[in-house]
Amino acid sequence: MATIKKDIRALSKEELRVFFESIGDQAFRGNQVYEWLWSKGAHTFEEMTNLSKETRAHLDAHFVINHIEVDSLQKSNDGTIKNAVKLHDGLIVESVLIPTESRTTACVSSQVGCSLDCKFCATAKLKRMRNLNPDEIYDQVVAIHKESLLYHDRPLSNIVFMGMGEPLMNYKNVLESIEKITSDEGLGMSPKRITLSTSGVPKMIKKLADDAVKFKLAVSLHSAIQEKREQIMPFAKSFTLTDLRESLEYWYAQTKSKITYEYVVWNGINDTQEDIDALVGFCKYVPCKVNLIEYNPIDDGDFQQASQGILDRYIQNLERNRIPVTVRRSRGKDIDAACGQLANKH
Ligand code: SAH
Repeated sequence: MATIKKDIRALSKEELRVFFESIGDQAFRGNQVYEWLWSKGAHTFEEMTNLSKETRAHLDAHFVINHIEVDSLQKSNDGTIKNAVKLHDGLIVESVLIPTESRTTACVSSQVGCSLDCKFCATAKLKRMRNLNPDEIYDQVVAIHKESLLYHDRPLSNIVFMGMGEPLMNYKNVLESIEKITSDEGLGMSPKRITLSTSGVPKMIKKLADDAVKFKLAVSLHSAIQEKREQIMPFAKSFTLTDLRESLEYWYAQTKSKITYEYVVWNGINDTQEDIDALVGFCKYVPCKVNLIEYNPIDDGDFQQASQGILDRYIQNLERNRIPVTVRRSRGKDIDAACGQLANKH
């Protein structure tokens, strides 16, 4: 029976060094291969020209180099690009390039489907198939970086983990991908330009703080009233606002990094003064800002974006309490590339 070859990109640099020693070669070959795999993006062992023919053949006999493939690419009339990305086992995830005047942002997926059950999100309707590997997350960023150069003539400037999936339910692989994205042997990007968005998994937020990560944290809050949050984000029964608050206080104490709360305002759900007061109250626990996100309708019509009047009321109340607030307009809506619309529809 043929042995199944292992994906060489699952090996750390240290493991590659040990592999070369184990076959009687020199450890530094491990560094060379690591560089080929990550900063040079080699797709075959043949390309690794500073290795001998025998070494390349040996690697080829033992390993594969898995890569994602951009299966289809859709362009919105606002410049947003959505990639459907095929993984080595045929599953598909989506990632998005969002250009603005001052920056180009990659929005990447961390899971195939999602572990959570937010009622307003299209991805939640897909069941979670599996976690993405670090290389699959890294490759989405590389693909968007190339498209940014090709179509917008400038490099990628920011990354947000706001695509499909809950990144803190795939903690280890997400952190490993960020390690590679920020390391000089990878893309050398500053962690300050990376934002991880979570629906709020308290234990994992504390772990981020303990691991002293340098990237930014955003939390999808949507309601600061426990019963209401449970209705729209049922997993919040297990991850309560009290626990979330405590984890965010811990995060801030350790990192001194401000939190962003993402918040959509819907008719009849969180459009009253009581909702506003609860949000203002919650914002006082930890230094933060609020990002009011425009709702992107998914098919079933249970949720409707509240009027500008209600949004203005939110803004006035937050500003009066000196809580910075921004409004995020949707991008790429015409191609289902906006927040919460990623659902492999094509
Ligand atoms: N699981 C993570 C990251 C993915 S979602 C998280 O929940 O943060 C990225 C953002 O889009 C989240 O803030 C999410 O609440 C928001 N979102 C989901 N569905 C949406 C929709 N239909 N319209 C607008 N925003 C939505």
